[in-house]
Amino acid sequence: MSRVAVIGGGITGLTAAHRLVEQGYEVSLFEAADRVGGVIQTIRRDGFLAECGPNTLLETSPKISQLLKDLDLEKRRLDPNPDSDARYILRKGEPTAMASSPLGFFTGKLFTWRAKLALLREPFVRASPSNAEESLAEFVKRRLGQEFLDYAINPFVAGIYAGDPDQLSVRESFPKIWELEQKYGSLIKGQIYGAKERRRSGVISKDRAPKLSFDDGLQVLTDRLAETLGDRIRLASPVKGLDRVGENKIGVKVADEIGTFDSVLLAMPAYRLAELEFPGGERSLSELNEIIYPPVASVVLGFKKDEVAHSLAGFGTLNPEVEKVKTLGTIFSSSLFPGRAPEGCVTLTSYVGGMRSPDLAMQSSEEIVALTVEDLRAIYGIDGEPVFEQVFPYPKAIPQYGVGYGRFRDLMTHCEADHPGIFVAGHCRDGISLADSIVSGAEAAERIGGYLDQTF
Ligand SMILES: Cc1cc2nc3c(=O)[nH]c(=O)nc-3n(C[C@H](O)[C@H](O)[C@H](O)COP(=O)(O)OP(=O)(O)OC[C@H]3O[C@@H](n4cnc5c(N)ncnc54)[C@H](O)[C@@H]3O)c2cc1C
Repeated sequence: MSRVAVIGGGITGLTAAHRLVEQGYEVSLFEAADRVGGVIQTIRRDGFLAECGPNTLLETSPKISQLLKDLDLEKRRLDPNPDSDARYILRKGEPTAMASSPLGFFTGKLFTWRAKLALLREPFVRASPSNAEESLAEFVKRRLGQEFLDYAINPFVAGIYAGDPDQLSVRESFPKIWELEQKYGSLIKGQIYGAKERRRSGVISKDRAPKLSFDDGLQVLTDRLAETLGDRIRLASPVKGLDRVGENKIGVKVADEIGTFDSVLLAMPAYRLAELEFPGGERSLSELNEIIYPPVASVVLGFKKDEVAHSLAGFGTLNPEVEKVKTLGTIFSSSLFPGRAPEGCVTLTSYVGGMRSPDLAMQSSEEIVALTVEDLRAIYGIDGEPVFEQVFPYPKAIPQYGVGYGRFRDLMTHCEADHPGIFVAGHCRDGISLADSIVSGAEAAERIGGYLDQTF
């Protein structure tokens, strides 16, 4: 039976390991930390549930639905409360509802008439040549204007990448949007004409994909994967390097031991891939160290419901940089899913730092709570003190798919070609969302299966 090593026990590595076991391989998963899950972590305390990392999983692919079914997690799945659809953008200090339909966009208060007219002009704006790599900010200003950049895209990328639209590449960070322009000449035309094609492929766009979590938070998923993998998981086992052992075998170095495998999957953050020694002694992926991962702190706070003036009806609010508040945005966690706060209380999850203000995320927990409470008081009319606090700092949170990111992807592709049997997957290669990582792990397992069938 072929032996496969999976290095990294985040959702990418866990998904891949699970699929490889199903294919009948002997799998060992090496995880540097003393727990699996990577950035996914849920804490339950005093009746509150705090998601330290991701809050929702988007069901964008049949591969995700299949995984939940295979793990028998359907009965633990939570869909969002039906009245939590509303999303807000902070404008003039007020959470202002985002439109959920074209009509709502034209009648809503979020954008001025100038921005509304810019949207009508969008189908007539010429596409940029396919070889020109633009930043997201340049792309949006060209097609939709400054106000869209300030009040839609800037807060949106703060919510997804904790990023800065001036630095992100439109082609790398939002490839589907870039493709709409290339294929249809316009985002609006692409939305209309591309709908049929998307239905055929079975892939659901992120803005339409069902959101979900579980009764005890997202860690339910990684815990269940860990349970099915059992003693194939080796915790506190940071892999230092790889070596070629004989013609088709790969040695995996952990502390003073070397294990021998037929194939290896690397499912680690870019800055760890950069440190790894490859067969021949080089650090083949050392350039990945240049990928920026800004620090982000997630701040989960509980308040008494009757001390919050805002209804908190909806998903949450994103804060544009031009509004000059300190937090990037806030999810109304207890409005979104049941069981996130005890009776009479609410849970709010805010994010601090990112590319916009990295220094804020590096402060002490007390300072981070204080600045978050100050923003929440002003925005939502909160009177009392928090009754629950949980700050979780990520010194290196989310990779920024900046202009020129393609060369990092090429490096990972060349690395696989240069080192047969070694594969790379995860958030620094295949997209930054949880959904992307699950698909990345599942597809890596398929590629490894194909390689092993051909080679042995
Ligand atoms: C604060 C925050 C909020 C987010 N919110 C959302 C959200 O709401 N929705 C969403 O879709 N996505 C969200 N994301 C993104 C998403 O959670 C991640 O992209 C995804 O979980 C990454 O999974 P991964 O397995 O690729 O990487 P990771 O989770 O980083 O796992 C990598 C693992 O590799 C291990 N490792 C590193 N080096 C070694 C080594 N040498 N040897 C062995 N093991 C090693 C690490 O310890 C880690 O466990 C969020 C991310 C963050 C940080």
